[in-house]
This record gives sequence, structure tokens and C-alpha cells, in this order.
Amino acid sequence: MSTSSPYDLIIFDCDGVLVDSEALACVVHAEVLTEYGYTITAAQVHERFLGRSAREARLEVESELGRVLPDTYTVQLRATIDRVFGEKLTPVPHIAETLGRLSQRTCVASSGTPTRIRSSLGTTELIDYFAPNLFSAMQVERGKPAPDLFLFAAAQMNTPPARCLVIEDSVPGVTGARAAGMAVIGFTGGSHCRPGDADRLRAAGATIVIDDMRDLPALTAQTLNRDEITVI
Ligand SMILES: [Mg+2]
Repeated sequence: MSTSSPYDLIIFDCDGVLVDSEALACVVHAEVLTEYGYTITAAQVHERFLGRSAREARLEVESELGRVLPDTYTVQLRATIDRVFGEKLTPVPHIAETLGRLSQRTCVASSGTPTRIRSSLGTTELIDYFAPNLFSAMQVERGKPAPDLFLFAAAQMNTPPARCLVIEDSVPGVTGARAAGMAVIGFTGGSHCRPGDADRLRAAGATIVIDDMRDLPALTAQTLNRDEITVI
């Protein structure tokens, strides 16, 4: 009996998909930016920078400020996120049992630094599902929404893009995965998600959007052809 899936590799975003980090990160990011003279709320950070790297957020802010932020900015941002994540970071609900049920190979493709990816997945005890297949935007020239990171991850895993399925919670992430020629499932089960997020992910190219990871294993067994999905 064949139970072959149309996908050989499932590529997971980290923040907002594996770990419920985005709400915490947006609060810290807003506090530190404000302290350094760029007044911004957590909601505005969410709106502008969700799914993108801290490096790209910093460059955008510096361009608006017309000055370079001091090195202490990045040091303080990292240290505060380390402390807050160490105290409060949790895995996304039901993710561990879901990972245990998947038959395909898996990897991580994140806008975070390699150190951040390892510490977040270590804190939440998810790292053994993925290591050493942890890929960071720092390893490619252009971060999400460019396709570079997804194509890099697929190449490292020796898998053609057409056999990859991406799980993403952000518009830049969905956009990048689609640009890489991959099918995408949107995820809106993170505590940062708001009404309308599912529509935004669909508009960016997600074939289907789920808010419960327990729905994932059954979906990975079917071809996610955008034109044939009639449910949800
Ligand atoms: Mg994300």
C-alpha cells in the first residue's frame, strides 16, 4: 500500500510557527527602539517587521532616523530578548505531538540568527526534531520576502522546491516561499495573530490556513493545489 506524500520536505518557519515568540519579541523590540529614540509601539513593530530579520528592521529604522544606531542597541535588544524568552517562551500548542506524527523530513528556515534559532528551540525542547537542519537568513544574501532562504534550505536538504511544503505565519514568509516555487500552509495559531491574518496570508499565496497544528499531518498527505481547495 502506498502512502506517498506529494512532499518530501516540510520547511518550518520558527517564530510564530514552532515557538510562540512574536508577541514577546514585538514588545521587547518596541521598548528598546523607543529607548534609543525611535518611538514605536508593539503593534507597529508587528505591522512592519513581523517575519523579517532584526538586521533589516534596524537598517530601515536607521534610514528613517538619518543616523546609525549604536552597537549597544543590538546588544541590549539581544540581551533583553534572551532574558524574556528564557522566562516566558513556550512552544506553539500541539507542535511537539504534530512533529512526532509527520512522516516527511523536516527543517527550519528562520529570519532569526543561528544562535537565536538554537536557543528558542532549545528552551522549548523542540530542537531534537530538527538539528542539525536549522537554516538562518544570515546564511543567504536576501532575507524573506526574497526566496533565497527557502531555496538554500531545499538545496541543503537535496530536495527540489516542488517537493517542499512551507509552514509560515507571516506575509514576508509566505511571499518568499511562493517565490521559491513552494506550496505554503499559513498558520495563525500564535498568540500574536489578529483577525484578518488568515486573509492576509491567503492573499500572499498560502493555499490553506490553519490555526491548529493538529490539522497539519493530514494536509501534508495531499497535494495542495490552490485551485482545487474548496474547504476552509
Ligand atoms: Mg514567523
